[in-house]
Amino acid sequence: MQVLYDNPCNEIQQLRQSLPALEECYDHSQQMMPSPKTVDFPRGIVLGSVAGELGLRKYLTELGHTLVTTSSKDEPDSVFDKELHDASIIISQPFWPAYMSSDRFHAAQKLELIITAGVGSDHIDINEANRRNITVAEVTYSNSIGVAESEVMMTLALIRNYIPSHEISKQGAWNIADCVSHAYYVEGMSIGTIGAGRIGLAYLRRMAPFNVRLWYCDKHRLPASVETELKLNYCADWKEMVPQLDVLALNCPLHAETEYMINDETIKLFKQGTYLINSARGKLCREDTIASAVNSRHLAGYAGDVWFPQPARPGHPWRHMPRNGMIPHMSGSTLNAQARYAAGVREILECHFEGRPIRPDYLIAAGGRLTGTGLHSYVVSSDVDGSPRNLSVMGDALPDIVSYF
Ligand code: NAD
Repeated sequence: MQVLYDNPCNEIQQLRQSLPALEECYDHSQQMMPSPKTVDFPRGIVLGSVAGELGLRKYLTELGHTLVTTSSKDEPDSVFDKELHDASIIISQPFWPAYMSSDRFHAAQKLELIITAGVGSDHIDINEANRRNITVAEVTYSNSIGVAESEVMMTLALIRNYIPSHEISKQGAWNIADCVSHAYYVEGMSIGTIGAGRIGLAYLRRMAPFNVRLWYCDKHRLPASVETELKLNYCADWKEMVPQLDVLALNCPLHAETEYMINDETIKLFKQGTYLINSARGKLCREDTIASAVNSRHLAGYAGDVWFPQPARPGHPWRHMPRNGMIPHMSGSTLNAQARYAAGVREILECHFEGRPIRPDYLIAAGGRLTGTGLHSYVVSSDVDGSPRNLSVMGDALPDIVSYF
């Protein structure tokens, strides 16, 4: 079963005829592009909506499987809930997440595999997946560079006061003083990220040419060569880094340690006038903390594309607060990204059906434990047997998932 976002409301007229061809490996990394045996869907069209079906219908029906595709997921009696009991594989995207709570696991007794078409599997209760020995996989790197690009755009848009100035232009007005009263240069600022994995490091690389001071915090320190190349300052504790910064970008997954990390207490650590960029997950931040910090100008601005829950309600305060650069969750679902994560889902399915191993880069949990990228980047509150996990052992145990440096 696939839970995908709704079809476009407007008729689509394609703007470009093709997508740029990329090398076999991603930007600065050794991680290979998705490599299914066959790609039989067109690239450069909307594949992530219900009609697009991630290009999977022909493949799955020819193999004799039944494919149910729906966007109906949260309302009472949703198609998702009705079909759960029959599903052996559930595919959904973080942009339109099929929240897999423990109740839903209980209903899905035939479930073997959950695939995130994209990156970030926090919509799945990973503890419950481990307890039931269900594999969780995602298409890492399919959209990481695109999200880093989007974060650069948001950083510039906030600091340069781009969105309010654009509104002034659209209104036919010309008040330069209004435009510039909140406009600054990025040059010389201190910019940091919590999480310097695939997205966080790509963001730092892309910000480096702006002649800024760069900071990062991560559970895993980057190689010294990367720190030297980008002149990075490292802090083991993000709370010590935050007071140094003019801009903080959140780039860590949502898990037990990071949920609501930005709250009424920790917001006090930020320097007055800091910009906060969050394209990681909405639930890293307390909704009201952000709204009041922006309204009181403690934060100079807030931008991102992630909310909780999704879709965000029309009255969500982040939609309406001043100096916000919020958009619906879409930075990881460009036409380029859709082609890539559709191919990655196909690769994962081929491995599953043919009894071949899914590559560790794509695994979050399998065999009742965190594994692969999941072991590197996630934390679960308890192991299958209920005993607390030793975090330092977790980190040390995974020397080979560093291919993106
Ligand atoms: P990644 O696994 O490559 O990197 C995550 C990094 O966060 C890892 O280096 C990990 O060590 C670090 N980390 C984990 N917990 C931490 C903690 N408590 N403190 C500091 N660092 C910590 O993942 P990625 O591809 O860079 O993606 C990061 C997150 O971004 C995803 O989990 C997802 O939530 C989000 N994302 C959003 C979009 C979007 O469209 N907005 C797209 C892709 C990913």
